[in-house]
Amino acid sequence: MISGRIIFSRIYYHNNYKGIELLKLMAEVSQERIWNLDHILPVKDFDKLYSEIEQDLKRAPEYLGRVSPKMSNEDFREIIEYDEMLDEKLDRLGYLPHLQEQTNIKDENARLLSKKYYDLALRCQERMMPLGHWVKGKNVDGIETLDDENASRLFRTVPVMAYSLQRTRENARYTLTEGEENVIGEKDMNGKEPLLQLREMIINDFEYKFKPKSAKKEKVITVEADLMKYRTSTDPEEREAHYNALFEPYAKEIDKLFLIYQSVVSDWDKTSERRGYEEPISERNDSNDIPDGAVSTLLEVCSENTEVFQNYFKYKAKLLGMDKLRRYDIYAPVAKADAEDIPLNEGIKIVLDTMGQFSKNFERLAKEILDDDHLDSHPRKNKRGGAFCATVGPKISPYIMTNYDGTPRAVSTLAHELGHGIHSLFANDKPPSVQDPGLTLAETASTFSEMVLFDRMLNEAGSDEIKRDMLIEKMGNSYATVMRQAYFVKFEKLAHEAIQKGTTSEKLNEIYMDTLNEQFGDSIEIDPQFKHEWAEIPHLFKTPFYCYAYSFGELLSISLYDKYKTEGPSFVPKIEDILKSGGSEDPMKVLERVGIDINSKDFWQGGFNQIEKWQKQLEALE
Ligand SMILES: [Zn+2]
Repeated sequence: MISGRIIFSRIYYHNNYKGIELLKLMAEVSQERIWNLDHILPVKDFDKLYSEIEQDLKRAPEYLGRVSPKMSNEDFREIIEYDEMLDEKLDRLGYLPHLQEQTNIKDENARLLSKKYYDLALRCQERMMPLGHWVKGKNVDGIETLDDENASRLFRTVPVMAYSLQRTRENARYTLTEGEENVIGEKDMNGKEPLLQLREMIINDFEYKFKPKSAKKEKVITVEADLMKYRTSTDPEEREAHYNALFEPYAKEIDKLFLIYQSVVSDWDKTSERRGYEEPISERNDSNDIPDGAVSTLLEVCSENTEVFQNYFKYKAKLLGMDKLRRYDIYAPVAKADAEDIPLNEGIKIVLDTMGQFSKNFERLAKEILDDDHLDSHPRKNKRGGAFCATVGPKISPYIMTNYDGTPRAVSTLAHELGHGIHSLFANDKPPSVQDPGLTLAETASTFSEMVLFDRMLNEAGSDEIKRDMLIEKMGNSYATVMRQAYFVKFEKLAHEAIQKGTTSEKLNEIYMDTLNEQFGDSIEIDPQFKHEWAEIPHLFKTPFYCYAYSFGELLSISLYDKYKTEGPSFVPKIEDILKSGGSEDPMKVLERVGIDINSKDFWQGGFNQIEKWQKQLEALE
């Protein structure tokens, strides 16, 4: 087999105009998969759909003219359908250039189309704003205000949307006047978005100077994904060099990055304060549909369990023959040699087989995504790092981007992202606005799929050594998903507070260092350069307070998986039931149906008890 990497390096030369055709040709040899965006919209039809939406929009006054508390159920259903139809078309229009940009950040045409999409989306949003305000029970010029009785009559006529409409109404106290909300929309588009893009441009220009201590020459790396692989190198010098290379440009540009961070944080805080949220994090919790109290409980239980992972780090130090781990070493592999590459097709087969053992529906839906050619698998120049799953709408199977590198971790990531895709497909009978679950339940199917994969591979492991390696990997991943993410949010709470009072980049670095010291205790030696790490985490800039969703999803999945193991196959339909609800029901109620109370400390502690069991299993292997 010709490895993906060789093909990858050839693309550097050929990644010009005829790129896609050539990529597809070479992909056949390398197993690399390039996604087919035509199912969203062939690029040549962009303008056609654009005008179609403009035409649709002309009918808005006709629909809005019929709005009144006494309106018929039929008229209400029609305007909701019209609104969802606009959403569905706009999503396709926006996702096409957005996804194009993901695999080629220098795609100028995509950027142009994105700009056109944003302008039109803004126009649609403005035009339909009276409907939103009216549903919320706000005063709208020329329309009689919607009373509670008529609201519940009308909402019942579209049962699948009833919960989200009712919730919108209840949350109206956090919505400002129409004019103010319009200004915020424009300011986000013309102020915040360019700032975030500027950050990406700064980072995209970074050159990483990689030089392990005993190496003679320095290697300049321009693709972040190429540097990332040294994070898990077997050579301690390479691991250290990776972090040195990574943080050097961040340290150099920290003032610019701080300025951007300070702006987006102040912007978030001021807006959420104006909207009347109690704390900056409350706006995120509200959009996640979780009470503030449940999030505080989650974060509190995480703080109480820092020792679970500290014990793991101490254990790992022994295994690596070190007195104490350095921060560089926490993801160090313990296996003596690099594992053999798992070709993509093999990785896909493992994931599909595993899903099939758990649920035929999971397997079928994952296969649907792959058969539709909606996976973009390998890293290449100008493609973004990381992985994600994008749901474009109910009629199109989701798109998955990964940077597959043949490691077991990459297979796990594939299972994770396919899990997201499966979740979307389970709920594809829902209208676009309620197909996606809130951010919190969003990580359920993804982490659950990873868990199923893990358990199968652990059971089939041929030796204690393999089991040990896997448990170590699992503990490492759980650390990264649960504790690390919870501490990002703990940092954010402090950072937002500090920025509100006025602070400097150096002070922010110190705050970050303090949170590292708290989570690692005396289990790890942390080099001072890690104080710049916050500037590297995109979520902190793009989606403040998002990261606890990972902790939430992982601990929730562990608990659900535990229930599956206790109850057996009869639990599978329950899981599927959670997934099918998409975003159309109250997540708390959905979870209650399977016996979970997210406000209880015990529930979260249960997740940590399971993680501790893995650690005990690990120690028992010696
Ligand atoms: Zn995810």
